[in-house]
Amino acid sequence: MGLKVGIIGAGPSGLAMLRAFESKEKKGNKIPEIKCFEKQDNWGGMWNYTWRTGVGKYGEPLHGSMYKYLWSNGPKECLEFADYTFSEHFDQTISSYPPREVLFDYIQGRIKQSNARKYIQFNTVARWVDYVEEKKQFRVVFDDLKKNETFEEFFDYLVVGTGHFSTPNMPYFKGIENYTGNVMHAHDFRGADPFIDQDILLIGSSYSAEDIAVQCYKHGTKSVTISYRTNPIDCKWPQGIEELPMVTHFEDKKAFFKDGTVKEFDSVIMCTGYQHKFPFLPDNLRLKTKNCLYPEGMYKGVISDVNAQLLFLGMQDQYYTFNMFDAQAWFARDYILGRINLPSKEAIQTDIQKWMEDESKCISADDHVDFQTNYIKDLIELTDYPMFDLDKVAEMFKVWLKDKEQNILTYRDKTFTSVMDQTKAEKHHTPWMKELDDSLERYLDEDPIDEKELEKTNYY
Ligand code: FAD
Ligand code: NAP
Ligand code: MG
Repeated sequence: MGLKVGIIGAGPSGLAMLRAFESKEKKGNKIPEIKCFEKQDNWGGMWNYTWRTGVGKYGEPLHGSMYKYLWSNGPKECLEFADYTFSEHFDQTISSYPPREVLFDYIQGRIKQSNARKYIQFNTVARWVDYVEEKKQFRVVFDDLKKNETFEEFFDYLVVGTGHFSTPNMPYFKGIENYTGNVMHAHDFRGADPFIDQDILLIGSSYSAEDIAVQCYKHGTKSVTISYRTNPIDCKWPQGIEELPMVTHFEDKKAFFKDGTVKEFDSVIMCTGYQHKFPFLPDNLRLKTKNCLYPEGMYKGVISDVNAQLLFLGMQDQYYTFNMFDAQAWFARDYILGRINLPSKEAIQTDIQKWMEDESKCISADDHVDFQTNYIKDLIELTDYPMFDLDKVAEMFKVWLKDKEQNILTYRDKTFTSVMDQTKAEKHHTPWMKELDDSLERYLDEDPIDEKELEKTNYY
């Protein structure tokens, strides 16, 4: 009997897995039987935007954490697929920081080139996995949400691509139960509109805090205060955004801060990150990790060190995204096909420890970029995924970090050059701060913004 591979999740990681198998098949190779299960009604993972919060149509915890006016927070030249460029997808040159819908279109463009959709069963959630020793297979229990039916399937290999920016990490602060404003987590933030003319407090100082702060500022929030636990974001904030140390407690509408500041807020948004959550995996197979670049327990950041038939994609913190998932998926594919052999248990642990030690030595953001660059190089060298100039991409990330530090409101107006096909990005027709319409149509439109639109913003 042939091999059977199950993939959980049809986000960028799951889709990379399908693409990897298909590219092999195209070259005339036999591939295993593949099935992919996705709990949403469409592919794209985070990029499949939803207006819903809390639970989905069928009462499942909602996956999406993206928001309406989200634009890429890194240059698209850093996430570009090596086997499907932006130029191939769009028949015009575009800017380096496209909005959400444009990136979703790009992801779909690649996967639509194939018949990958036929492998995916939508509206189907993985409920439970166990490893059946006698069969040497995983038994996976699923719920078909639409039919409201439970069923099971057996797989020789199971690939988990369920993402890890979906289950909120929601800390408690003394008195917050009696706070009289709105409290929510960034996971449920769907755009700045409800916060126009408000004084808001963001807790946390990473990407979500930074981006929600500038989005709210752009769309007319009265003031944004960011409260940091370890390090401030430390860029030059415009008037209207400020950073304070951690909140100690709440009283009515007031927040109290470590430095003695007391301030009233209309809303509090917890930008406190996410939990790696695998409610469908038994305790011994679950990844137990914080958000980092080399989560413990996976050989090459992909193959479980507890059960070598269990693989994970995209579980790392992400500078690189789409092309890193590809590098992992190509590696996973060749491993499943028996083209890559596992070394001894000791060698696996030595390799994992080496990467973890390297990560622990990283101090600056530049070091972290270099770490992830090396990780991806290591993977691509093992497969036929097209090698690209990763050192140049690393350089772009470092320029991006500097650009943000220099001006958090204008970094998205900068342009970069593709390392895949040398296409130089064009400046967007409208500066990011002035562009309030983030639709695909508007983005691809050649006309600059009209003056009336301009007046609506509070740019600087
Ligand atoms: P996801 O995209 O999260 O997809 C996982 C899929 O698994 C989902 O479709 C989900 O429904 C499905 N799933 C989960 N559990 C189950 C289950 N039990 N059964 C069946 N299916 C299940 N990256 C960038 O490159 N640029 C950006 O600008 C950017 N912005 C971001 C903004 C936000 C707010 C967030 C949260 C992330 C952002 N990212 C960005 C990073 C993002 O994580 C990646 O781009 C990418 O979406 C990760 O792909 P993934 O497939 O690993 O996970
Ligand atoms: P994150 O990077 O994991 O950061 C979590 C933040 O929460 C850290 O600042 C952390 O502080 C803080 N925190 C955690 N627990 C806390 C507690 N108990 N009290 C106070 N602070 C606490 O998560 P994220 O910022 O949500 O980013 C997740 C992903 O989303 C990233 O990949 C990012 O790129 C993506 N994203 C992208 C965009 C965009 O493209 N436009 C927008 C938003 C998010 P410490 O430093 O002290 O640990
Ligand atoms: Mg190679």
